Amino acid sequence: MSLELTDITLTYADGDTRLTALDRVTLQVPKGSLTAVVGPSGSGKSSLLAVAATLITPDAGTVTVDGAATAGLSRGELAELRRHRIGIVFQQPNLLPSLTAAEQLQVMARMGGRGAGRSRALELLDAVGLVDQAHRRPHQLSGGQRQRVNIARALMNDPTVLLVDEPTSALDHERGAAVVELIARLTRERATATVLVTHDRAHLTAADRVAEVHDGRLRRPAPTG
Ligand code: ADP
Ligand code: MG
Repeated sequence: MSLELTDITLTYADGDTRLTALDRVTLQVPKGSLTAVVGPSGSGKSSLLAVAATLITPDAGTVTVDGAATAGLSRGELAELRRHRIGIVFQQPNLLPSLTAAEQLQVMARMGGRGAGRSRALELLDAVGLVDQAHRRPHQLSGGQRQRVNIARALMNDPTVLLVDEPTSALDHERGAAVVELIARLTRERATATVLVTHDRAHLTAADRVAEVHDGRLRRPAPTG
């Protein structure tokens, strides 16, 4: 199993008490498969991704990436794990305004210790249908194109795990559906264990499994279709 969350509980300070954002959540995502996570706003979807990304340490439970437990790793070791094994796509693309599309990806290659990565950057931009836009900067791209650069960037270091948080929230339905289709295709082609948070149920047909979260509790993922 490429990504395993086992019995995760996460609380946040909330005045004098604590708010339970994730309540004994267990989720297993095999390589090359797409699990969609749906649920109302505030139900814990982003918290789930943050724990899977090792950006937040839960109160209890374990996260395993590529068969290796993340408990007990130092901050530096976790950062290293994220650079090499985890691709993260947030809601907003967070592209660097002064860099071209190709350079956004090349920055990741350098951080991953992989040299300039120019040819890999172009290969990935081709995979997301943007190789002819490689020289453009973010303001010269549409919202959908920026989100596709964001996705290509997350794949730059060939991650095992791909975590995507509501990538279509700033897109219209048609462009949103195309982005989700793209994520589903890349999941198969690049054999990532992908978790996609979405609020749009129309996108669920692209997923292999759908997990619903309510008040921090996850229902066991069910196969789609
Ligand atoms: P979703 O992504 O499904 O909208 P979140 O994971 O962002 O849900 O939030 C789950 C719950 O945790 C919400 O009640 C939210 O207000 C709370 N929460 C999220 N992040 C924090 C934080 N950093 N500190 C305190 N409470 C938080
Ligand atoms: Mg969220």
